[in-house]
Amino acid sequence: MSMKIGVLALQGAFREHIGMLNQCGVEAEEVRLPSQLDDLSGLIMPGGESTTMVKLLRRYGFEAALERFALMGRPVFGTCAGAILLAAGQDGRRKDLLPRIDINITRNAYGRQIESREAEVKLAFSPERPFRAIFIRAPIVTATGPSVEALSFYRDRVVLAREGAMLVATFHPELTEDDRIHQYFIAMVQDAQAADSVAPFLPEQQQAAFVK
Ligand code: GLN
Repeated sequence: MSMKIGVLALQGAFREHIGMLNQCGVEAEEVRLPSQLDDLSGLIMPGGESTTMVKLLRRYGFEAALERFALMGRPVFGTCAGAILLAAGQDGRRKDLLPRIDINITRNAYGRQIESREAEVKLAFSPERPFRAIFIRAPIVTATGPSVEALSFYRDRVVLAREGAMLVATFHPELTEDDRIHQYFIAMVQDAQAADSVAPFLPEQQQAAFVK
């Protein structure tokens, strides 16, 4: 099955994600228009400045296309600012639009002094050696819903999490040479493609809306 993963390229660290996907042998595309989502099997929302990204997403009319993408069960991976965009809750704000992951997140929460740092973290799906996590003005995950799987921690905080086809990292895996997290996301995309060829995947609440 052919696979092409898009990287939202409105702003931020998208080139590094493209490089990492290519390193993994996957075709990657810079996404600047909502219509590009139609023939993508997965999407990465990169780090950058989440407030700017939200504005640009609105300006270019991405909302409906992104929602459709999520309803089709296509995986989305958000890193840092991208994780903020996917969070269902952010500093008291509730996100209703899809795609979203059931976590609460607080922006720039490590404080100014330690706003950027590197730390070794353990990946639940690859515990044999640590992963060098690079945090840059990183957000903090303050709560996770019951169906969210915590895949890595830093100082008791969840820094990598998955819910269904959604994956978020509060750090920047694309800035290292280590491609294990991208490989994990690629496997999610493969699983979604396999499931898609059998039966359409729809989140439960959406299924209810369709069965009328
Ligand atoms: N601090 C940024 C924000 O709040 C995120 C930083 C990043 O993506 N590296 O949007």
